[in-house]
Amino acid sequence: MSLENPIQNKSDVIIIGGGPAGSTMASRLAEQGLDIVLFDKDHHPRFHIGESLLPRNLPILAKLGILEAVEKMAVKKLGADLALPDKTYYRKFEFSEADKNHPHAFQVKRAEFDHLLLNTARDKGATIHEGVKVTNVSFDQPEAVVVSTIDSEGNEQEWQTRFVVDASGRDTFLAGRMKTKERDPQHNSAAVFSHFEGVDRRPGPDAGNTSVTWFKHGWFWTIPLSGNVDSVGVVCDPEFLRTRKTSLDEFLLSTIETCPQMKQRMAQAKSISETQAAGNFSYKSTKMHGDRFLLIGDAYAFLDPMFSTGVYLAMESAMQGADAIQTFLGDENEGALCLDTHAKKMERGLSHLTWFIYKFNTPAMQTLFMSKLNPFNMRRSVISLLAGDIFGRMPGGVGAPAFKLAHRFLSIFRC
Ligand SMILES: Cc1cc2nc3c(=O)[nH]c(=O)nc-3n(C[C@H](O)[C@H](O)[C@H](O)COP(=O)(O)OP(=O)(O)OC[C@H]3O[C@@H](n4cnc5c(N)ncnc54)[C@H](O)[C@@H]3O)c2cc1C
Repeated sequence: MSLENPIQNKSDVIIIGGGPAGSTMASRLAEQGLDIVLFDKDHHPRFHIGESLLPRNLPILAKLGILEAVEKMAVKKLGADLALPDKTYYRKFEFSEADKNHPHAFQVKRAEFDHLLLNTARDKGATIHEGVKVTNVSFDQPEAVVVSTIDSEGNEQEWQTRFVVDASGRDTFLAGRMKTKERDPQHNSAAVFSHFEGVDRRPGPDAGNTSVTWFKHGWFWTIPLSGNVDSVGVVCDPEFLRTRKTSLDEFLLSTIETCPQMKQRMAQAKSISETQAAGNFSYKSTKMHGDRFLLIGDAYAFLDPMFSTGVYLAMESAMQGADAIQTFLGDENEGALCLDTHAKKMERGLSHLTWFIYKFNTPAMQTLFMSKLNPFNMRRSVISLLAGDIFGRMPGGVGAPAFKLAHRFLSIFRC
């Protein structure tokens, strides 16, 4: 279809995507009085996987002014537990052990949570277009970026802006176009997941905790959500997923059957949504920012979801990135330096987290996580990680180097 409309007035920032990263960025910048336009190809509320938040999310929710609203829709999560497949035994990690100031987090239905974040950005003054897909971004003009869109009726439009933020999630809009997206050859997992009713939860106050249960081909998660619904999924080697001869529903249920602890907890459970799959999911863009653009959240990198860090990283990268963009709009040279500093900080956090993810399924890591011994106060270090302390030095313990040393030692002795 030909373009019927002239290029729209120039905004300060255009954001591609209204997930946690895009909406947080829009809120933060609109609060500063900037002219912000956000496009999401979907209409909200819409389903999204990624329901377990971390204690480190809470200060961000407070800054956005929505902590109480999220609390009302959420299940309270005091920690997480790790379980081995063949026993009823599990090891519990409570956030309060690592940080008394951030003793809990929330489990949320993403349809509700993302809708709240998007409406918050709208309330703060951002212009939100739902059901409008970004189809092209052109950096050909020296002082403006031109963004092309198409709405659900097929109407195409062009928009000028001073800066563009890619928050398009796993669609990786800009990284795909710039050919900067690199899959992680060392970590290629797949996930199959659904919502269930009637999952046997942990007792008492632990009923809101995430459980991670290892099994031969990977690990399961159970995440308790409001209304007696639990998110249940399996993360596995893609080779194992390729052995599937049945529907996704049947595959998920038969895989649960192979793990005694999960089988027991799911004995009375009924699936209440369509089972979905996500494949080959770890990647990173070789570029996080450049002339008039920044990639945030999953649009920049996606790591395995085992530590439930995705939404936190999306929102944290938006908060930090927004400060750098604000500086850029006032002084481009200084702003470029701020974007660089932001990128380096994010990189450091991601590489720290990547190390743990690579090792997660090794026997040595399972020994370290499950052991009742606590050399070098490692338990506290583990909990800091589970709470999302990706950017600071792990409090209370001797930090990542000691953990890495212990892991190497155990690996050598094949523990
Ligand atoms: C199996 C699995 C389990 C997970 N579990 C967890 C968990 O427990 N906890 C956790 O924190 N994270 C989890 N994650 C990760 C989490 O889902 C993501 O990290 C998080 O949603 C990233 O937020 P985002 O805003 O960057 O992207 P998204 O939430 O994906 O939002 C991107 C938005 O961009 C829009 N969009 C895309 N392309 C365009 C376009 N061209 N034009 C306009 N709009 C566009 C989409 O419609 C979407 O709304 C999990 C992920 C997977 C795959």
